Amino acid sequence: MMDKTAFRAARIFDGTDWHDDAVLLVQGGRVAAIVPAAKAPDARPLPEAIVPGLIDLQVNGGGGVLWNNDPSAAAIGTICKAHAAFGTTSVMITLITDTPDTTARAIASAQAAVGTPGMLGIHLEGPHLSLARKGTHDPALIRKMTHADQANLIAAKTHFDHMICTVGAETVSTDQVQALAAAGITVSLGHTDCSYDTALAYADAGATMVTHLFNAMGQMQHRAPGLVGAALDDGRLWAGLIADGYHVADAALRVALRGKAGPGGIFLVSDAMSTIGSDLTEFTLNGRQIFRAEGRLTLADGTLAGADIVLIDALRYVHQSLGLPLETALQLASTAPAQALGISDRGHLHPGAHADFFCLTPDIRAAGTWIGGQQITGGA
Ligand SMILES: [Zn+2]
Repeated sequence: MMDKTAFRAARIFDGTDWHDDAVLLVQGGRVAAIVPAAKAPDARPLPEAIVPGLIDLQVNGGGGVLWNNDPSAAAIGTICKAHAAFGTTSVMITLITDTPDTTARAIASAQAAVGTPGMLGIHLEGPHLSLARKGTHDPALIRKMTHADQANLIAAKTHFDHMICTVGAETVSTDQVQALAAAGITVSLGHTDCSYDTALAYADAGATMVTHLFNAMGQMQHRAPGLVGAALDDGRLWAGLIADGYHVADAALRVALRGKAGPGGIFLVSDAMSTIGSDLTEFTLNGRQIFRAEGRLTLADGTLAGADIVLIDALRYVHQSLGLPLETALQLASTAPAQALGISDRGHLHPGAHADFFCLTPDIRAAGTWIGGQQITGGA
């Protein structure tokens, strides 16, 4: 007999609808049902609302740890726990462009960390990007994808359910994209100057995602719609968005959210660094200093270097500052990223889904988080 637990809240969002005064029934780490409170009188009362756990496809660090600087399995545990405190229950641990040695160590440690609560898979952002669109990535480490790189990535994928590679069209061929996609790797276009037509050719080859839409790519011109135009106009592509109030202007966020062609949609990412859940004021990446001030992370020259937010901050931003309905904001941070990876049993609380959820307060904060039905942090 599998353990059965029941959690009661004033309201529960299942990813589609709200259930007032309801109980979430969990069995074997999965959602069994959501029933009226009267049907489960012994349920554990939780504060406020129960909502699906957030899914962050771009997380470089947290809890004072940056994965590039500490590419260990223990670091993954620290990072996942730091984000869980803020309602994020699934994390794609992300490595920013680094040396082949650090990349290999990171992949090996991630293999050892599979099963860590909250770890969904890995995201390798670079090193195969466009130099012209390097952003905070170390230009000395950006390079073309070799056949050996391709083989290493495909071999690595066998250890993970989910793996994203952010690549630029300048350093990765459509044949390579085809091979990566065939191996089950999610290919995301980013840090690239590629044209609209090139982006579509890469989508034909199997790319299904665009990394932090608007940032580190060509913008939409009237006769040169660029990667931004392709991301919004081609329904095969899903696009991540950093909604921290700094990376993308509110008007651009609104236009993207209104204008995206489906079925591919927009999802929110944090692009969080080590600062999350810590009082760090600066740290290093590839030997360069990154400064934290006023909600931003920058290199000495002012280049944005990741974001100083967790995913719930982005959710709160699109709800409170852009005026999106709470349900839409929640979906952008849970259902949409799950769908972007082709995951059907996360990002909602319908029967059969992973019992990943958190208590949401009226001011959009997390007050207790559960992963697979087990309490990870906080709460009553
Ligand atoms: Zn980036």
